[in-house]
Formats: sequence, C-alpha cells, structure tokens
Amino acid sequence: MTTASTLEASPAALEVHDVHKWYGTQRVLDGIDLTVRPGEVTVILGPSGSGKSTLLRVINHLEKPEVGHVSVNGELIGVRRHGRRLKELGERAILAQRSRIGFVFQNFNLFPHLTVLDNVAAAPVATGKLSRPAAQELARELLGRVGLGDKAGAYPRQLSGGQQQRVAIARALALRPGIILFDEPTSALDPELVGEVLAVIKDLATSGTTLVIVTHEIGFAREVADRVVFVDGGRIVEQGPPGQVLDAPRHERTRDFLSKVL
Ligand code: ADP
Ligand code: MG
Repeated sequence: MTTASTLEASPAALEVHDVHKWYGTQRVLDGIDLTVRPGEVTVILGPSGSGKSTLLRVINHLEKPEVGHVSVNGELIGVRRHGRRLKELGERAILAQRSRIGFVFQNFNLFPHLTVLDNVAAAPVATGKLSRPAAQELARELLGRVGLGDKAGAYPRQLSGGQQQRVAIARALALRPGIILFDEPTSALDPELVGEVLAVIKDLATSGTTLVIVTHEIGFAREVADRVVFVDGGRIVEQGPPGQVLDAPRHERTRDFLSKVL
C-alpha cells in the first residue's frame, strides 16, 4: 500500500492506454485506461463476462489488443492504433516483460509432476536467472513466507486448495516481479480456505508489492485496496478509493453489482 506522496512522485508500474479487444464482433474491452503506481494495490470488480480476465491477459501479453497499448515500468509493450501496427516487441522482449509480471490464476495451475519446491524454483532456473541451488534456496525462503516451509517435498495433489494457491503465490514471487496480477485467486476454494490465501495476499500488499487483484471479496477489497476499479461491459464505470466506490458508488450499475455480491 502506498501513501499519497509516493503515488505522485514515482513513474507508473503499469499503464494501460485505450485498450480495445474484441472476439469476432463482440467488444470485450472497449477503451480501458488504467494507471497503477509502484506499491499500489488495485482491486478490479465487475460482473461475470465484463472483461476482467481478458484485461489481465492483455496486461500479461497472453492476448493482444486490437487497439491501445500497455507499458510496464515505463516500457512499452506493443502499440496498435485502429488495426495499424506501429511498433511491436519481439517474442524475446515479450517473454522478458512477462517475467516481470507475476500471474496467479483461479485454478492454481501448478505443475502436478513437480514437488512444491520445484514448482517455485522452476521459473528462475528456466529463465536463466538463478542456478538450481540458488533457486531452491529462494524457493525455501518464499515457501516460509507463505507458511508452507514444511511442504517443500510434497506434490500439489497432496495439498489443500488453499495450500496450492499459496504455492502459486510463492511461484509468482520467485521471479521477483515488479507487479503481480491475481485473477479471482480464491473463487475456486472452499470457504474455510479463503482466509489463509487472502492473508498471504494482504501480507504482500502491506509490504509494498504492486498488485492488481480481480476478486469478489468486497471486505478484502475494503481492507487492502488503494483503489477499486469497477468494470462493466469492457469499460471502467468508476474507480476510486474503496470508501468511495464501495460505500458511496456514483453509478447505478456499481450499486446494482454491489447489492448482489455484498
Ligand atoms: P470476466 O473475467 O469479467 O468474467 P472475461 O474477460 O473472461 O470476463 O470474458 C469477457 C467476454 O469475452 C465474455 O463474454 C467471454 O465469453 C468472452 N471471451 C473471453 N475469452 C474469449 C475467447 N478466447 N474467445 C472468445 N470469446 C472470449
Ligand atoms: Mg474472469
């Protein structure tokens, strides 16, 4: 989480500029502008099908927008205007960018055939950032941080969903990303396991990691978000501090959504 003065002074960790994305004739993102400052925690809310996952996938270059661009730490990733490609990074540059962005999925996506330790250590080794022993040392440290220091030798199937998601968070941290994206990190979990995962994310939030979190956990958003962004129909309907968007929403669509999830 950040203070007002650091928000003003630092360059953007993430900038999404006028992003449009469509599948066939369906407009899924319809002109998204979003700026995230270093250390800022942004929570994205919105109904199912409103384009939240697509937005995260565009930020992480898993999808290309038809129009608009995304930059991470001031580095432009690809520029397209009205279908005309002005500049585009090559595959290597995209991979380098992606390694600076952590992504935590709804369904954990751990490697089933690798131990917990190797799940966390794999990416720094594969990308040549660390030797295997150094990556394993880092993985042990990160597993300790998410409260799973005793599970290093286990396989994902031996863990609860909450534990698997905490491994996925440790795995995202292993590349020391500048920003971590979470796509509904607790919606596949049994209710009693949600709290342990939110506690880990909250720890990251309070230690200054830049986070963009798609979630329906309104209480959590109120607690950790610097900014809440409400998306509907591929557009940002409103955004602001949690006290404003959650407690005094200006738009009918936001009020309607909140009345359904609260
Ligand atoms: P959310 O995460 O807010 O529920 P999504 O970004 O997953 O929304 O999806 C937004 C819309 O885009 C939905 O109507 C969905 O069906 C559609 N969509 C998402 N991915 C694809 C795809 N790969 N091909 C076609 N349509 C897609
Ligand atoms: Mg989604």
